[in-house]
Amino acid sequence: MTVDRRGIGMTSKRTRERLIQRLMDQGIKDYSVLDSIRETPRHLFVDEALAHRAYEDTALPIGFNQTISQPYIVARMTELAIAHGKPEKVLEIGSGSGYQTAVIAPLVGQVYALERIRGLLEKSRARIRELRLRNVQLRHGDGLVGWAKEAPFDVIIAAAAPERIPGELLEQLAPGGRLILPVGGVKQSLVVIDSTEEGLKETVVEPVTFVPMLPGTLR
Ligand code: SAH
Repeated sequence: MTVDRRGIGMTSKRTRERLIQRLMDQGIKDYSVLDSIRETPRHLFVDEALAHRAYEDTALPIGFNQTISQPYIVARMTELAIAHGKPEKVLEIGSGSGYQTAVIAPLVGQVYALERIRGLLEKSRARIRELRLRNVQLRHGDGLVGWAKEAPFDVIIAAAAPERIPGELLEQLAPGGRLILPVGGVKQSLVVIDSTEEGLKETVVEPVTFVPMLPGTLR
């Protein structure tokens, strides 16, 4: 893969700034999140044919029937992930193109990312390496069962929606940790579960649309 760090032509900087402005207009406030989005070359995470649309605030196809997440939702979930300070260990489920991975990696200690489709995993691994994000471990695996060997995690963040919250993920949450995920079928909500001294506390953030979290892995 060839990586063009200069972006697409002369408009790239202006186009990226327009995206940042849009995210701010939609209520994203954390400057470290906005900076990370600004610095992350989203055009490298989509096919060349779609690169000219990479800084639009929309999901785009990445093959295998999956999509790269919309920048707004990546920003919102990253903001929720670092709201209580810098998490040391983060589990990401459904890393897909690796875009969310690249946005969150500079803001946390270590990212452990799981993707069930091998083809996507391999492409994202090349991108993460090219961008020299050394605190990321990507693995071909099923997020419904989490990553027990590396648990507990300060933050677990998922880009695919299970019908209900998987018990394994709650078990792999550190005391004081936070699980951020879309939940539901046709109608989904972005949900935050905080593990507190008084037990699990659930907050519904907003309605969202994600692909389903499916069991098992694909070659
Ligand atoms: N944040 C990613 C989103 C990709 S779409 C990006 O911006 O590119 C969601 C991803 O979740 C898909 O790649 C899908 O294959 C993956 N996925 C779905 N169920 C999963 C599971 N049980 N374990 C791991 N990954 C899963």
